Amino acid sequence: MRTIWRVFRYLKYYPWHIATNVLFNMLAVFFNMFTFVMIVPFVELLFATSQPVDQLPAFALNQEYLSLWVTFTLNQYKSLYGLWPCLIGVSMGYLAFSFLSNLCRYLAQYFISPMRNGITMRLRNDIYHHITILPVSYFTAQRKGDLISRMSNDIADIEWGVLTSVISLGKDPLNILVFSLALIFISPRLFLYFLVIMPVAIWLISIIGNSLRRNSVKGQNRLGHLFAVIDETVSGIRTIQSFGRQRHRVQLFSEANNQYADTMIRVAQRRELSSPLSEVLLTIGLVFILILGGMAVLEGQILSSVFILFVILFARLVPPVQSMVRVYNNLQKANAAAERVFEVIDADEQIHQLPNAKSLTHFQHQIEYRDVSFSYQTEPILQHINLTIPKGKTIALVGPSGAGKTTLVDLLPRFYDCSQGSILIDNTPITQFNINSLRSQIGLVSQHCILFNDTVANNIALGLPNFDRNAIVHAAQVAQAHEFIMQLPQGYDTPIGDRGLNLSGGQRQRLSIARAVLKDPPILILDEATSALDTESEIAVQQAMERLMQGRTSIVIAHRLSTISTADEIIVLENGRIVEQGSHLQLIAQQGLYKRLVELADFK
Ligand code: ADP
Repeated sequence: MRTIWRVFRYLKYYPWHIATNVLFNMLAVFFNMFTFVMIVPFVELLFATSQPVDQLPAFALNQEYLSLWVTFTLNQYKSLYGLWPCLIGVSMGYLAFSFLSNLCRYLAQYFISPMRNGITMRLRNDIYHHITILPVSYFTAQRKGDLISRMSNDIADIEWGVLTSVISLGKDPLNILVFSLALIFISPRLFLYFLVIMPVAIWLISIIGNSLRRNSVKGQNRLGHLFAVIDETVSGIRTIQSFGRQRHRVQLFSEANNQYADTMIRVAQRRELSSPLSEVLLTIGLVFILILGGMAVLEGQILSSVFILFVILFARLVPPVQSMVRVYNNLQKANAAAERVFEVIDADEQIHQLPNAKSLTHFQHQIEYRDVSFSYQTEPILQHINLTIPKGKTIALVGPSGAGKTTLVDLLPRFYDCSQGSILIDNTPITQFNINSLRSQIGLVSQHCILFNDTVANNIALGLPNFDRNAIVHAAQVAQAHEFIMQLPQGYDTPIGDRGLNLSGGQRQRLSIARAVLKDPPILILDEATSALDTESEIAVQQAMERLMQGRTSIVIAHRLSTISTADEIIVLENGRIVEQGSHLQLIAQQGLYKRLVELADFK
């Protein structure tokens, strides 16, 4: 149960909410107690079980004095005003206490609501903030679904656990304490009988709690898997439908869904057991008391009205005890959820920034890969890469699929760090730069252009502040995107659906080029699209790319001969090594891999 304490630390932002909640809960308990105490005069009035008291004994804070005082006072009022007014008076008292108690209960809930939603809001913010700085390698397909499940369901479990425990801890222990004290006050002996069965109850309840926690973890993991399947299906719906693999996906989903349901059924069955179980245990206690207390009444050791009060107060112990048991179970579940949430918040960012990192403001001379090797796991992906790119030049990376081209460019903005060797900008290793300043110098146009669910203009500006419409329009013009944007129903304010499904491939690419134009970075990484565009789009995209590259230093993962032949230098990669390097004509003359790739037109 350690992790959940980290969530409870968020409570420090809400001292007043908690204080008011506890205060009103205490008042509610207090008034509630009185509603039950009103039972005694009621029974006394109707049944007159005790002897009339003529004179009040000396004051003492004990049950005998209070009973005598109640009987004495009632008798006085009864002889003064008669039975009916007394009955109505007692009933009104009952009503007033009950009203006050419920009013306080509502106020307690009212003041705790900002805390309830505030804590989960802060948790969601923290997890989201951390997601944005986690390394690219963290986000595997499985993780995506799992993250959504952590941000929604786990946080909901935490919310429920924290809320119920704050509410319950603000009132249930107090309730139990007050009612227990009242019971001890009335009859310590009867209360002792009840205490005997407590350890058994606690033991049984904790067994259920532990099993709940284990199953909750399993359930949440399975839900993560379920979300992953949904995410994959939605992203890959074209592939699934075109290959007619719906049945296979449905089968995959229903398996994952069945497993999740099975676990959740077990969780529900365990959870539902704890409440009846605690009630049965308390009832066993009550039966003890009924038998033993009944004997005490028959022997005249205790007033029957007081005994009835004892039994009623005892019955009132049941709900707060049950509620505490529920809270314990909810906390077990919330703890499991908190472990999953903090796993993300604590996940290593991997790409660390040095404490005294410099800011990269002006890229001046060159980018250099110096004996760079890299592996994702154990298998080497890049080996001993040496490469210098002078400022203002364009280099084209070519090579068969899987040669390591994407990996090579991903190292520059530090999506990953080199396993060996280093990358230097103007002779300073990139690890010494402030990460944001490094990335601000690099523009990325990838072949999988991601558009966000926002307007066209905002997709180009991508959250960059202080951009006026003119700059956005200019960027779109440079990227050859202005004309088609103007033909959209609301121009630059047209919303783009999720993943830009209602734009063509060429249009999407031009939008992502406009994004890079607007960012205006000195260094560009371009991943040319492998998919064929229609000739018109192809020409437009090509022109847009050329304009974008003007005056910048560019690394292009090239798939088109037109791009490659205009590059200052071509780097041919194979199995993670540079195998050829030079201009188009030089490489053709070498009669090696490059020539074969050109002949096959295979630059993928
Ligand atoms: P290219 O861009 O030339 O097609 P990549 O750089 O994408 O090549 O991939 C090079 C190799 O690295 C491939 O064998 C690929 O399977 C592997 N690879 C790529 N990304 C990852 C990753 N995130 N984790 C593990 N292996 C990867």
